[in-house]
Amino acid sequence: MKVEDVLSLMETEEVVCVDLRFTDLKGKLQHMTLAAEMVDGDLFEEGFMFDGSSVAGWKSIDQSDMKLMPDPASAYLDPFYAEKTLCLHCDVVEPDTGEPYSRDPRSTAARAEAYLRACGIGDVSYWGPEAEFFLFDDVRYAVTPQKVSYEIDAAAAAWNTDASFEMGNTGHRAPHKGAYFPVNPIDEGQDIRGEMLSTMKRMGIKVDKHHHEVATCQHELGMIFGGLVEQADNMQKYKYVIHNVAHAYGKSATFMPKPMKGDNGSGMHVNMSIWRDGKPLFAGDKYADLSQEALWFIGGILKHAKALNALTNPSTNSYKRLIPGFEAPVLRAYSARNRSGCVRIPWTESPKAKRVEARFPDPSANPYLCFAALLMAGIDGIRNKIDSGPASDKDLYDLPPEELESIPTVCGSLREALEELEKDMDFLLAGDVFTRDQLDAHIRLKWEEVYAYEHTPHPIEYAMYY
Ligand code: GLN
Ligand code: MG
Ligand code: MG
Ligand code: MG
Repeated sequence: MKVEDVLSLMETEEVVCVDLRFTDLKGKLQHMTLAAEMVDGDLFEEGFMFDGSSVAGWKSIDQSDMKLMPDPASAYLDPFYAEKTLCLHCDVVEPDTGEPYSRDPRSTAARAEAYLRACGIGDVSYWGPEAEFFLFDDVRYAVTPQKVSYEIDAAAAAWNTDASFEMGNTGHRAPHKGAYFPVNPIDEGQDIRGEMLSTMKRMGIKVDKHHHEVATCQHELGMIFGGLVEQADNMQKYKYVIHNVAHAYGKSATFMPKPMKGDNGSGMHVNMSIWRDGKPLFAGDKYADLSQEALWFIGGILKHAKALNALTNPSTNSYKRLIPGFEAPVLRAYSARNRSGCVRIPWTESPKAKRVEARFPDPSANPYLCFAALLMAGIDGIRNKIDSGPASDKDLYDLPPEELESIPTVCGSLREALEELEKDMDFLLAGDVFTRDQLDAHIRLKWEEVYAYEHTPHPIEYAMYY
């Protein structure tokens, strides 16, 4: 959509308000609403000033003026507001120079796309993220972290077969890992997911499916692949829709990676491919019908996986998911077959659909930074011909200890990931795609979370040590 199209859509739809939306460093969607009368073509040239001082990790109070530059291509109608509202995703720029703000994630994502072209590696990259999530009964009355965790334990216990004798008749309830994917009434999410999918479709997202996931109360909706910034925008809309439809049903949705012990966590697998001169760069005659470039791309991802973790798995909870036995990866290995490595090559006969799936990212990641970082690692792999090593086609959860020792792992904690990012960030800074200032701010913000987590007595410690 161009500016003229946006303005005429506003007329035909009798739009009353315009919502300017942007994403902060942590990946949260923020907004500011303008009366439609305030919006004309100038908004797209001049931008809109706002106070960036209270956005976590951004400007200090003494230099807080910032500007939002709406992207007309991102326009959509909000499906939830009572007043007819047009939404625009914005880049954040410096008011005096008009240059992108160095910590703006959406601008970083756009620079990563441009860098791919500048390197001559590809003209376009395609992104297919699969963010999983849980739907629980609303816990809004729970005010302390301890209370929330007890509520969720109760929810988990209610679904647990081991507990079924105490919990009464659970005949039509899914046991742990048993929810993938019998029809209703075991699958209780059909209608709510259906509404989520059609709401996304009305917002212009190309959707392809929805289904229950392996864990109890866990779900996934599928979007058709798209460009890097486009799909990061779509991931923000995806989360927005899921949270709001869940809310309307009296449920809460969570994208936290591991809300329940003993059952699968929520990943955000990221399917990626690059095209050059109208041809798929990843299709070839090497392992799993990949090209040499694709193998180098994988080599870059595996090499930088520990530093990537700080952006692809940026919560303390992320590392409770990255353990053996729950279809989440631990080892830095790749394979066409098994789902226990960091990178999988989904089977397809069509060279056009040839893609590489990174399985370690999770939906607590800021999608703009997550996709940009994965692309930068892959580009580094291609530019430096980083060897991916041999594929690992065995079930990596079942390897004997001698064989396990030779395979490197992902990080075991957010603390470790932040330390790894400090040591290995040049591949992100290449071409000024990420900025040092932005990575430092991200690391600082995330240390606060590490400290909050490490300094807080955990309910399980009472059980073990009280
Ligand atoms: N939930 C698993 C994960 O954490 C993935 C399961 C699946 O999509 N098959 O990554
Ligand atoms: Mg999927
Ligand atoms: Mg899935
Ligand atoms: Mg997948």
